Amino acid sequence: MGEDTAFIVNDLQNQIGFENGLSSKFKGCKTTTTIGDKTYVIGGGNDESTLFVEVRIFYQATGNWVTPIVLGSKPNACKGLSAISLNDDRILIIKKGPTPNDCILFLEVDTWFVREQKKTRGTEVVAWSKGVMGDAEKPVVISGPSGVGKGTLISMLMNEFPSMFGFSVSHTTRAPRGVEKDGVDYHFTEQTIMDKEIKDGKFVEHASVHGNLYGTSIEAIEVVTDAGKRCILDIDVQGARSVRASSLEAILIFICPPSMKELETRLRRRRTETEEHILQRLRNAEVEMEQGKSSGIFDHILYNDNLDDCYESLKKLLGIEGAATATQISAHQGIDLPADHSVLKMDNKIIINCGTPEPEKATERIVLDVSSLKGGAPGRTRGLDVLPLTHFEMA
Ligand code: ADP
Ligand code: 5GP
Repeated sequence: MGEDTAFIVNDLQNQIGFENGLSSKFKGCKTTTTIGDKTYVIGGGNDESTLFVEVRIFYQATGNWVTPIVLGSKPNACKGLSAISLNDDRILIIKKGPTPNDCILFLEVDTWFVREQKKTRGTEVVAWSKGVMGDAEKPVVISGPSGVGKGTLISMLMNEFPSMFGFSVSHTTRAPRGVEKDGVDYHFTEQTIMDKEIKDGKFVEHASVHGNLYGTSIEAIEVVTDAGKRCILDIDVQGARSVRASSLEAILIFICPPSMKELETRLRRRRTETEEHILQRLRNAEVEMEQGKSSGIFDHILYNDNLDDCYESLKKLLGIEGAATATQISAHQGIDLPADHSVLKMDNKIIINCGTPEPEKATERIVLDVSSLKGGAPGRTRGLDVLPLTHFEMA
């Protein structure tokens, strides 16, 4: 492994940054990673045994410090971390200690998602995304006019495959219906609170629907994927458009009623809305149907005429025609890393030397392939692969 193609990344145990005067800014442990004229300092906390993952940026040209808006779920505290930049748009973070489901993370600093967020917010933004092995199943978005049967179809799927699918619990400012439970059907909230949380970057998407605010939080998706399940989102067409434009890489399905008359019958039979709200939802349904069928947002359109037929078609689309084939997805496999390790980058390979912070004394090596990363914030970064050691035998 030549010196010119590989370099040892900043390790947490090194007290780094003295040359930039960084050491006075953080007590405890941290790593620095320099991309262009920005140095990202990740880590911190007052106690070296438990690191709280924080991010600050040092502008080398001006000598200024900036605390960016940090989107995505902050990683859990850990005992240390290593960092290495990949393609100048994201930093790979490897946490120390036995945290297999949470040990490989990406801090996005200049991906498409982060650049868009910087434009909208006019300030420095970074975003966390958890790394997962292989191709975890894509989230499923179900859209369609109110009363078409989205909730019914989703319930059928979740009842038949409880360990396979998990529902993304949205936030809404509308009042709960009789049987709805907070935290189960929705997170019921208030406009001012939700406005602030949207500003703080906690939402993947949000939209005003039938006079109320609805939105999918990053956390709602993470709760499902962390449980090793495939995420189902029940959101309107505006939300679907935002998801389509994001890096979530979801499968988007639009559900149509057999007719507008039947849609009205279903909405009335459900007896959950006032007459005024039924009329509002029917008016909006016309627009949603037009957009849903013609906008190019959706990958599939299903007609919910006979419920059982529609459910079978939905299962077919999701590749689960028979119950026997459905098993839980191990969507967030991680690596069990020993506390002591060091990290090297060579082309698109990350070599993790285990057992010691000194690479030449490593007792085991893990080779991570990062050449086919997919997705990213605000979802997961998929496509990580652990390679056999053939080309990287211990020296
Ligand atoms: P959405 O979630 O799209 O607003 P729901 O799932 O609440 O719609 O369904 C609206 C009503 O229509 C419910 O009372 C449900 O039982 C009923 N329903 C759903 N699908 C069908 C169908 N294929 N045929 C007849 N009624 C249906
Ligand atoms: P309801 O009030 O009937 O539960 O939902 C009304 C509409 O809001 C439905 O079209 C539903 O798909 C949509 N909706 C529910 N949650 C979300 C969300 O998080 N984001 C968006 N954009 N729409 C949502």
